[in-house]
Amino acid sequence: MERRQFLKISGLAPLALPLSSGLWAAPQPWHDHFTLPALPYPTNALEPVIDTLTMEIHHGRHHKAYVDNLNKALDEAGVHSHDILDLMKRVSALPVAVRNNGGGHWNHSFFWPLMRPPRENNVPEGALRDALVSVFGSFDSFKEQFKKAALGRFGSGWAWLIKTSDGKLLITSTPNQDNPLMDVAEQRGTPILGIDVWEHAYYLKYQNKRADYIDAWWKVVNWEFAAKNFQG
Ligand code: MN
Repeated sequence: MERRQFLKISGLAPLALPLSSGLWAAPQPWHDHFTLPALPYPTNALEPVIDTLTMEIHHGRHHKAYVDNLNKALDEAGVHSHDILDLMKRVSALPVAVRNNGGGHWNHSFFWPLMRPPRENNVPEGALRDALVSVFGSFDSFKEQFKKAALGRFGSGWAWLIKTSDGKLLITSTPNQDNPLMDVAEQRGTPILGIDVWEHAYYLKYQNKRADYIDAWWKVVNWEFAAKNFQG
């Protein structure tokens, strides 16, 4: 009897068996593949720009729910991809729950390392700064246009700075948990920067004042991470 078949019959969870047996590649339950990534800093690290309770709920409940519901949606649809980028690229052919929760998972996994403890005069340097100045006129002008996109996104969604396939920088926004990697996006490209403008991202501290949240958010942008996205 093959071991896989034995597992099926015995009902034993594969992970309960020693993985070091070397007899077979452990058949990880594929629906357990997507897991909530740990925050790259403590939940109070972005204070006072983003408060601790917002971070706890945003990461521990909202992002966790996207991961759990993505796994469930893939299970129900019988989709066996372990690759979140692959799912984003062909999302139009997948159930809407994969689009919403897969997008939620990718977007938040991108958002956490895009932030760090607040700094005054927090600005990009090097090639990314030069590119922003070249395309948008000045760094302040870039910030204004990005803010406009974030404020102009009616309801829930994200604003993005992306690099298109021909290397151009563009500001765009997406509804709900869509993102520019998806084949359904109006403007497709590689995200360099993205801001979550769902109310759950800011409401406890900023209430209805999305503009104040955006203005404060510049202090916590991790420009080194953004530069890597730009170069990559
Ligand atoms: Mn969010």
